[in-house]
Amino acid sequence: MKVFHNISLRNRNTFGIDIKADRFISIENEQEAESLFKDRTLISGQSLIIGAGSNMLFTGNFAGTMLHSELGGIRVEEINNEDVIISSGSGVNWDSLVEWCVGKGFGGIENLSLIPGTVGASPVQNIGAYGAEAKDCIYKVRAVSILDGSVSEFSNSDCRFGYRDSIFKSELKGKYFVTTVFFRLNLNPEMKTEYGALGEELQKLGAVTLRNIRQAVISIRKSKLPDPELFGNAGSFFRNPVVSAEIASSLKTEYPNMPSYPDGSGGIKLAAGWLIDLCGWKGVRRGDAGVHDKQALVLVNYGNATGSDIYNLSEEIKESVIKRFGIELDREVEITGPI
Ligand SMILES: Cc1cc2nc3c(=O)[nH]c(=O)nc-3n(C[C@H](O)[C@H](O)[C@H](O)COP(=O)(O)OP(=O)(O)OC[C@H]3O[C@@H](n4cnc5c(N)ncnc54)[C@H](O)[C@@H]3O)c2cc1C
Repeated sequence: MKVFHNISLRNRNTFGIDIKADRFISIENEQEAESLFKDRTLISGQSLIIGAGSNMLFTGNFAGTMLHSELGGIRVEEINNEDVIISSGSGVNWDSLVEWCVGKGFGGIENLSLIPGTVGASPVQNIGAYGAEAKDCIYKVRAVSILDGSVSEFSNSDCRFGYRDSIFKSELKGKYFVTTVFFRLNLNPEMKTEYGALGEELQKLGAVTLRNIRQAVISIRKSKLPDPELFGNAGSFFRNPVVSAEIASSLKTEYPNMPSYPDGSGGIKLAAGWLIDLCGWKGVRRGDAGVHDKQALVLVNYGNATGSDIYNLSEEIKESVIKRFGIELDREVEITGPI
């Protein structure tokens, strides 16, 4: 376990916001987590679990203790002719896990290639892209209670997964530190190639294999999304809103080209990026805070924007979307600090 005091988080959040945390504790194994949370003398003030900080926007210094996983290790737990159960430490980089699985021929998470962040955040966020979601492959999640240091295992249904959502973001928010995530993967996977430009990109690569799907997803993502190493960002800033069939159909009358998809539970999902784009935001800058010029859903720190600069821009965007479409956007990015 490593403990840091008054540490800058600039390199620990993909927006590159320069704020400080009073205390930052890196946890290297489950026993450390158990004793740290049982004893609690090292945890002062409020606490916040942070992975790679790729879904967070800090609007001020953090007066409290940040908890960070450095649990490593990927293992095969069980295997038969059809599927395999693997486990991964929560501190493993998500894309390294995807690469490892594709290399072994284990299918299921290849469409989630190149999503930034750690394995520990994947069940919390129920990360998703190109027609796949983490929940489709998560078998169980092992976590330590921050309140008393006890260890629990959560089955897939215990996790109550939803669209970019899980029990760890609602009822149990901030209460469990994920240590290990178990995935059930397939040795003869049904590959998902239908979503967006994926089919077209795959045709350029030839056969439909796990490796080619990964490659195609990486190429598309690189062409569309800004690299946080170059311009600070946290991917999609807003969630795609879900509206009733009536609202969707009345909007379609006014905007026949509006993209919309059934959300699987009776609602209609709209593309937040399309709504924002139509309000004229693509490429707009307010000082160092801006909207990406290729993807209106991504807000960018062009250099020295503060968290508040980005937050204020997101408020302006929300207001304009309400004014034009009557739809209130929810932020996907988690805001930490004063607003
Ligand atoms: C360029 C870019 C593209 C992106 N594209 C996508 C995409 O296609 N699909 C998608 O779903 N997301 C996407 N994201 C968002 C982000 O990658 C995911 O939300 C990712 O899962 C965050 O991982 P993290 O480790 O950075 O978590 P953080 O941002 O550090 O934390 C996210 C949440 O998880 C909690 N958490 C983290 N680790 C643990 C743990 N060990 N135990 C308990 N709670 C924990 C945190 O408290 C917080 O609530 C993108 C982000 C960027 C920057």
